[in-house]
Amino acid sequence: MSVTEMKSSLVEEIKEWKRKRNAILLAHNYQLPEIQDIADVLGDSLALARAAGNTSADVIVFCGVHFMAETAAILNPEKTVLLPDLEAGCSLADSITVDQLREWKAEHPGAVVVAYVNTTAEVKAESDYCCTSSNAVEIVRSIPEDKEILFLPDMFLGSFVKNETGRENMHIWLGECHVHAGIASHQVEGVLTQHPEAELLVHPECGCSTSSMYLVSEGVLPAEKTHILSTGNMLKHSKNSDAEEFIVATEVGIIHQMQKQNPEKRFVPANPEAVCPFMKMITLEKVLAALKENKHIITVPADTAERAKLAIKRMVSIG
Ligand code: SF4
Repeated sequence: MSVTEMKSSLVEEIKEWKRKRNAILLAHNYQLPEIQDIADVLGDSLALARAAGNTSADVIVFCGVHFMAETAAILNPEKTVLLPDLEAGCSLADSITVDQLREWKAEHPGAVVVAYVNTTAEVKAESDYCCTSSNAVEIVRSIPEDKEILFLPDMFLGSFVKNETGRENMHIWLGECHVHAGIASHQVEGVLTQHPEAELLVHPECGCSTSSMYLVSEGVLPAEKTHILSTGNMLKHSKNSDAEEFIVATEVGIIHQMQKQNPEKRFVPANPEAVCPFMKMITLEKVLAALKENKHIITVPADTAERAKLAIKRMVSIG
């Protein structure tokens, strides 16, 4: 059997098992192309959290990383949430523990905690708001000016939000995602030189996002062609823009969807090595095994889930 035949037979089996179990398959934009192609809902963290909250399926197979499946489990305690590979973690979520957060809060009594969705359920339970890159700016703007803010865990997204909102009383945790931090501004400038007509799409988690804003203000990068966007908004923008070529500064998995939606346009990665090893752990074989063997079930203790849910609900309702 050829590789293509093997894949299509796996896809057929997955469809069959999805029917049998009344399951829905949610997949993040950074997943392998073959996983993206079989997803019932494909999107960024916010879109997937919303989809998880609205589904009538009995089983949610989460093709993403551990904290995303936890979020789905918190929103749906009565459903079975499956993560096809338990090792699919996130270096950003691992950059702050709940004990570190408690210590930080003790140093800033009364501060409002805004946690990016890439955090463990325990950290969310200690936070006032969750946010994603699509609504972080809006959430920070909705907090009264006189309140101190603790923003975690991503320092690049935090700096971006601080610049956008001009918020002085906002403290930022020095965490980072190793994949996004690996996209440096010199690489972006290099690719731009080779593709001078291209629009530049930058994810705010990128190592280059804050320097991109600086380079725009200095006139080094063209302001009208540089867009700092969440992955969901990158997809929308590449569809609606008249540009024919785009430099994409985020995890390369998203290019599959961009190319699929816009076959006539060209998409160039800012750094072709920006590949998240955790996202790529989910394969067709593992999705099938998850459905057949009911693994790996993700649950969150009820008291943690109850407290985390409030912060997640605020995220889902804003933006
Ligand atoms: S790309 Fe970075 S932030 Fe996203 S899941 Fe991978 S390690 Fe986490």
